[in-house]
Amino acid sequence: MGSVREGELKERLLRPLLRELKDGARDRVVVGGLESLVENLARPFPEVRRLFQGYGAKTPEARKGVLEAAIRLLQDGLPPEKPQSPPPPRLALEDPAHHLAPPQSRKKLSELGLHTVRDVLQYYPRRYEDRRTLPGVRFLEDGKKATLQVKVLSKELIKTPKKGMQVVQVKAQDAWGWRLTLVWFNQPWVLSQVEEGATLIVTGRVQRRGGVQLFVEHFEDEGTESLSTGRIVPIYPAKEGISQAFLRRTVHRALELALPLQDPLGPYREAEGLADYSEALTHIHFPEDEEALKRALLRLKFDEYLLLELKALLDAGGLVLGRSFRVEEAWVETFKKALPFPLTRAQARVMEEIAKDMQSPRQMARLLQGDVGSGKTVVAAFALFLAAQNGAQGALMAPTEILARQHFQNLTRYLFPLGVRVELLLGSMSPKEKEAAIGRLAAGEAQVAVGTHALIQEGVAFRDLGLAVVDEEHRFGVLQRRALLKMAQVPPDVLVMSATPIPRSLALTLYGDLEVSVLDEMPPGRTPVKTKVLPHRLRLQAYAFAREEVKKGHQVFVVAPAIEENEELDLKAAKSLYEELKALLPEVRMALLHGKLPAREKEAVMEAFRQGSFDLLVSTTVIEVGVDIPKATLIIVENAERFGLAQLHQLRGRVGRGGLEGYALFIAGEASGKTLKRLKVLEESTDGFYIAEMDLKLRGPGELRGTRQSGYPELRLGDLAEDTGIIERARALAKRILEADPDLSRPEHQALKAELRAQAERIGFREVI
Ligand code: ADP
Ligand code: MG
Repeated sequence: MGSVREGELKERLLRPLLRELKDGARDRVVVGGLESLVENLARPFPEVRRLFQGYGAKTPEARKGVLEAAIRLLQDGLPPEKPQSPPPPRLALEDPAHHLAPPQSRKKLSELGLHTVRDVLQYYPRRYEDRRTLPGVRFLEDGKKATLQVKVLSKELIKTPKKGMQVVQVKAQDAWGWRLTLVWFNQPWVLSQVEEGATLIVTGRVQRRGGVQLFVEHFEDEGTESLSTGRIVPIYPAKEGISQAFLRRTVHRALELALPLQDPLGPYREAEGLADYSEALTHIHFPEDEEALKRALLRLKFDEYLLLELKALLDAGGLVLGRSFRVEEAWVETFKKALPFPLTRAQARVMEEIAKDMQSPRQMARLLQGDVGSGKTVVAAFALFLAAQNGAQGALMAPTEILARQHFQNLTRYLFPLGVRVELLLGSMSPKEKEAAIGRLAAGEAQVAVGTHALIQEGVAFRDLGLAVVDEEHRFGVLQRRALLKMAQVPPDVLVMSATPIPRSLALTLYGDLEVSVLDEMPPGRTPVKTKVLPHRLRLQAYAFAREEVKKGHQVFVVAPAIEENEELDLKAAKSLYEELKALLPEVRMALLHGKLPAREKEAVMEAFRQGSFDLLVSTTVIEVGVDIPKATLIIVENAERFGLAQLHQLRGRVGRGGLEGYALFIAGEASGKTLKRLKVLEESTDGFYIAEMDLKLRGPGELRGTRQSGYPELRLGDLAEDTGIIERARALAKRILEADPDLSRPEHQALKAELRAQAERIGFREVI
C-alpha cells in the first residue's frame, strides 16, 4: 500500500510543520513556502491538504491550530480534535453548595448545615451497604435480614380486622422473575411513595411461609441509578424528607466538579504513606472496595487529627522559645541522695525527660500523668530543684487549700535539706502572713511558692519565675494557667500534673499542646486496694464491714452518686443516705459533705476528717483526689454503675495511703449482667490506664469526666479508642510543620491553612491564623 513512501512523506512534512509551530507561524515567506510544500507533498493525505485551505490568510494563532491538527493527523493518524462543548464550570471548596443541587432542593442542603462545596465533600457517610451483588429472592433465608433490588408489580393498603392495623403490601419481583411481598406495618404513607413499575432497593427481615415476605425497614426508590446499587453504597446521616439518593447525587456532583483538589498534606503525603486527598474523598463516599475504603478512612482520619493538633499548638501560642536551664549531673545525684527511697524506674525516666525539656531553649510544656500515689510530687520537686539551682523561682498551683498544704509539707520535706526555701500562699491566710510571703517571693528569698489560685492574685510578684507546676489541671481553666505564666518575664517551663488516667489518645487531643509523660509504676510496698463489686441486695454487708473498720480506729468514705448533674437531687440523695446510715450505725461518728457547701467549709470538713474528728464521711463526689487521709481504709460507692471506671479507680485511690490495707466496695444499683461485668474490670485490674482505656471502649469519650471541652471540634471519623498511633503521627507532623513555618505562610501550606480556617468557622471561631 505504498506505506514506506507514505512514511517518508510524513517525515518530510512533519519536520517543517513542527519547526514552524515552534517559530510561531508568523513569517509570511515561510507561510507561503509551507502552503506549496503541503500542496505538493500531501497528496496522499487529503485531510491535511483540506486543513491548509486558506492557511496564508489566517492569523498566526489560527495557523498554529492548523499546524497542531495537521501534526496530530500525521503522527497518530488521529482526526483533528472536535470542538468540544465547554466543560462544566469547576467549583472551588469555598463555593456555595447550592450549585450542586437543583433549585427546588437547595433548602435541604442548608437544613443539613451544608453551605459550601467543602461541607458537602466532608459530609462523610455514617455507614455503608455492600450492594455489589444483591441476592435474588430465591436465596433469601428465613429470619435473616437482607437487601435486594426488586420491581414493583402492584400495591395495596389492608386493614387487619382484629387489631385495626394498617398494612401496606406490595407485590414485587426480582430480576429473575421470582416474586415476593413487601410488607410495611402502620406506615400507610408508604403507599403513595411506591409506584407500580418502579425499581426499589429494599432492606428488611425475611419470612418464608408459603410465599416470601420481607418486613421492610428501609427502602429507596431510584434503584436504577448506579450510585445506589451495584456498588458499596454510602448511607449518610439524613433528616426526614431528605433521601439518600439525593445526598448521593449531590456528593457525587461535588466530587465531579471540585476534584482534583490541592492536597492539604502536600509534600508530606508520600512520606506518611497516605492516600492522595482527592482519591481519599472519592473512596470515602463511593469506595471501589473495602481496601480503598480503609485507605481513604486512614487518610482522612489523619487529616482530622492533624488539624486538631495544629489547632492545639496554635492555640497555645505555637512553639514558644523559653529559657534554657543548665542541668549538672552532680545536682541530679545530690537530689537523689537526699531522698529517703530509691526512685522507681518510671520516676527516673520521667525526670530525665523533664531535665531534657528544661535544658532545651524551647518552652517545656509537659503533662505528667500518674495514678494517685505513683510519686508525682517527687518528680515536681526535682524540676523545682533544677530551677532553683539556676537561680530561678518555681511555683506550684493546686486546686484547693488542703492539697496546697499537703504539697507544701511534702516539698519542704524534699527541698529544705537541699537549701531550697518553700513558701505557702493561701487565700485564707491573714493579710499580714500573705504580705510577708509575697515579700519573700518578690525579693527572691524564697525559691518555691506553693498555693491555690491565690498565687495569681493582684499583688503577687516573683523576682524571676522560671518554672510553673500546675496540679490537677482539669480544675483550672486554660486562662488560669496562662495567668500564672504571665507572672514571668520569659515564658517559664510548664509541668502539668494529673492523677486522672487519661488514655494517651485522649491526652494527645485534649492536651494537644502538651507532651505527655506517664508514671506507670507504683513505688514498692504499696498494696493495691482490695476491691469487690456488690450486687444491690448485699448492700448492707458493706456497712457491716464499715462498722468493723471503724472499730479498729480506721476511717471510711461513703460516696453517693451525682444524679443527672442536678445538685438539688444529689444533695437529697446524699442526705437521705446520711440519715439511713446514722440509723444503721448509731455508734459511728459521721459527717456529710456535699457540693453545695462553700469551698471554705468543704475544706474544713476534710481537715476535720483528716485529723480524726469523725469516722465516716458521706459525700457526693466532691472529695479531693490527692488528699492524704492516712487512716482511711475503706471506700464504699453507692450506685457505682453511674460512675466511669476511671473515676471509680480514682475514688479507691483515696484509701490505704497510710501503710494500712485499703478496701473498696462498689455497690451496683441496677445489677444487670452487663453492668456487673463492666465494674468487674476494677476487681481485676489496678492499672489506671488500662481501666481508662476500657472505659473509653465501653462508654465512649463523651462520658469521661472532664473531657467535654468546648472549642474542640467533634471527631467525624476518628475513634479515640483505636487511633493512638495515627494521632501520634499527626502530632509529630503538626509540630514539624509549625517549626518550619510558624504561621503557615508558605505556599505548600495554603491548602492546609484553608482547612484549618474552615474548621475554625465550623466550630464558631472566627479568629484567623
Ligand atoms: P502522687 O502525688 O503521685 O499521688 P506522691 O508523690 O504524693 O504521689 O507519693 C505518694 C507516696 O509515695 C508519698 O508518701 C511518697 O513519699 C512515696 N514515694 C514516692 N516515690 C517513692 C519511691 N520511689 N519509693 C518509695 N516511696 C515513694
Ligand atoms: Mg499527689
